[in-house]
Amino acid sequence: MIIAVASGKGGTGKTTVAVALVLASSEPVAYADCDVEEPNGSIFLKPEVAEVERVLVEVPDIDEEKCTSCGKCARFCQFNALVSLGTPPLVFPELCHSCGGCEIVCPTGAISWRKVSVGEITLGRSDGGRISVVQGKLDVGSSLAPPVIRQVKTYIADDVLTVIDCPPGTSCPVIESLGDADYVLLVTEPTPFGLHDLKLAVETVRVLGIPFSVIINRFDEGDSGVEDYCIEESIDVIVRIPHRREMAEAYSTGGNLFDAIPEMRELFREIPRIIVRGVK
Ligand code: SF4
Ligand code: SF4
Repeated sequence: MIIAVASGKGGTGKTTVAVALVLASSEPVAYADCDVEEPNGSIFLKPEVAEVERVLVEVPDIDEEKCTSCGKCARFCQFNALVSLGTPPLVFPELCHSCGGCEIVCPTGAISWRKVSVGEITLGRSDGGRISVVQGKLDVGSSLAPPVIRQVKTYIADDVLTVIDCPPGTSCPVIESLGDADYVLLVTEPTPFGLHDLKLAVETVRVLGIPFSVIINRFDEGDSGVEDYCIEESIDVIVRIPHRREMAEAYSTGGNLFDAIPEMRELFREIPRIIVRGVK
């Protein structure tokens, strides 16, 4: 089963929940960090790294001998990755989505391909080998999160519980991360901002047709807006995490939720079973 942990915005405790899910299990599990702009699950899981590989994408390579500077490729490119001012086109690799269209429209066969790096994948194991950890990380200056996320997901196995730590928000990288998920846990906080972003996240997972429930972090602070909304929309609140000063202390030293609130471990261990019962 693949459980994706998502949130409408950053800072809600999404990684805290994702890490807690794999730590609470006593079975072999996998943690896939798809928050590729700012992956930080490894800070808490502390995996032994076994392998690092690059994420490569193909971008156009212009043969200026064959190019007639017609500009068709630049006009075709929807991502402004090619600019031609009566000259052979300049290529901006960081904007290219590797769709291949420019090669198709080029009348002279002047476009071939070269590979550029957009990120890296780190593979490792934590907790004596029980937890498989896969982390994707974008290269500095690269904005192409989806190829990095896709490569992270190639390491997801069918036979173990996998927890995907999604990027915050509701844009393309989130959609890419949620694909293949059997269930989504939406982490929020009981504030007007939390409610606003939760509504967007709920709309997204409803469009995708993935079953989901909500986890409210710091539930004992803030207002009742999130709870009221979940009641109105018949959305289950599967866990409420209290606010404790010890949590900030634990995180600042690489600790986890159970270092601060040990009694939550049992509840988190139950979550996959609760989900399986609900999904059936
Ligand atoms: S491959 Fe697609 S996105 Fe990249 S430069 Fe060509 S047309 Fe643009
Ligand atoms: S379409 Fe081909 S020939 Fe025309 S500008 Fe682009 S690379 Fe050059």
